[in-house]
Formats: sequence, structure tokens, C-alpha cells
Amino acid sequence: MPKIMLLGPPGSGKGTQARVIKEDFGIPVIATGDLLRKNIAERTALGRAAGSYMEAGGLVPDYLVVDLFVSRLAEDDTKSGWLLDGFPRTVPQADALDKLLEERGEKLERVFLLEVPKGLLIRRITGRRVCPVCNSVYHIDSMPPKEPGICDFDGAALITRDDDDEETAENRIDIYNELTSPLVDYYESRGVLTKIDGTIGTERVEQKIRATLA
Ligand code: ADP
Repeated sequence: MPKIMLLGPPGSGKGTQARVIKEDFGIPVIATGDLLRKNIAERTALGRAAGSYMEAGGLVPDYLVVDLFVSRLAEDDTKSGWLLDGFPRTVPQADALDKLLEERGEKLERVFLLEVPKGLLIRRITGRRVCPVCNSVYHIDSMPPKEPGICDFDGAALITRDDDDEETAENRIDIYNELTSPLVDYYESRGVLTKIDGTIGTERVEQKIRATLA
């Protein structure tokens, strides 16, 4: 089973693809953003520490996210394969992942980079609606739920994430360019990076990922 990662700016479609790949391959998705939001909802110590960074569109400090990731990866369902969505997001996080995988005798097999121009990212992010229960992601124009404002899967009322307003989205994209985009070279130089045009439509992106993994 694959051990892979999705890389790309906020709004590039990582979460949408993660959901599909999870179904296709039966592997767990480790999405640090979802794990952090769960901690915020449950008012844990980590949630309290992370909340203000996330609301402003900044990154949560590496040591907090790495600890969170380490404990998630230690769970039983990750033995034969996994998909990372939103981790690592900085070079120190990527180094920490390397060390952790080496200790486990595992290798990150492939990194998929979803490329989308900035103007389109902003439109995608500000139209995004999410289910607070199952984390399904919708878009008011391109991927509307069957009934407006209601999750197709569990009937919950959809919400707009706190960090999905235009100003915060701009900030998140700038931070991606500054702190996360160095990971493109990091993984390209190791020969594990596959670049995919993230504007070609969800299904075609999925086909490309599947073809690469076949
Ligand atoms: P998106 O990919 O659309 O930005 P995520 O749900 O992946 O959405 O992340 C939301 C926020 O959670 C980020 O803006 C950041 O504050 C925090 N976050 C998620 N993953 C990490 C990480 N690996 N390192 C630091 N902060 C993170």
C-alpha cells in the first residue's frame, strides 16, 4: 500500500484528493489541519496553543505539529500505508519526518505537488464550505452539496472555516510560498516528486495520481 504525501498551497485540492485516495487504496489520511481543528474543538492544551496561529493564517510551531504527527503515526492503522496531507509544511518538519520514517524502516514513496495559480486559489478558498462532522469539503460553485448548506453524507450544517476569508487566505498563501515551497526542491532532488496541474479538474488529477502509483 502506498506511503505518499500531497504538497501544494492552500486551496490546491489536497483535501479533496486525500478523500478519494483514501477510498481507492484504503489507507488512512493524516491531515494535520484536521487534527489541529479537532484539538481546538475539544479545547485541549494543544488546541489552545494552536488556535491563534491558525486563525491568523500562520503556521503552528514545528514542535507542536511534529509531536501531534508522531502520536498519530504511532496508531495501529498506519502500519501498511498512509497519505500525508498538510504535513510536512516546513523544512524542519520534513527533516523530522525523515528521521521518524528511518526509525520505522519506512520510506516516503512519492510526493504529489498540486500546482494552482494564486488568483484561482483565493476563489477556491473563499467559496469553500466544510462539514464540521466528517470534514467533507464542498465549493459553492464547483462542488456544491446536493442541498445548499447541508452535508451530503451526514446532514450536518456546513460551515466556512475561520481562516477562509480573503485576507487570511492571502496570508496563508504567502506563508506557503515562504516556508513550504522550499519542500518542492527538497523532494525533487530526491527524485520522489510528481508535479500535477491542479486546475485540470478533480477527476483528472485523481487519474494522474492513480496512474503514477500503478
Ligand atoms: P490548507 O491546506 O487549506 O491551508 P489545512 O487544514 O491543511 O488547510 O491547515 C489549516 C491551518 O492549520 C494552517 O494554516 C496552519 O495554521 C495549521 N497547520 C496545518 N498543518 C500544519 C503544519 N504541518 N505545520 C504548521 N501548521 C499547520
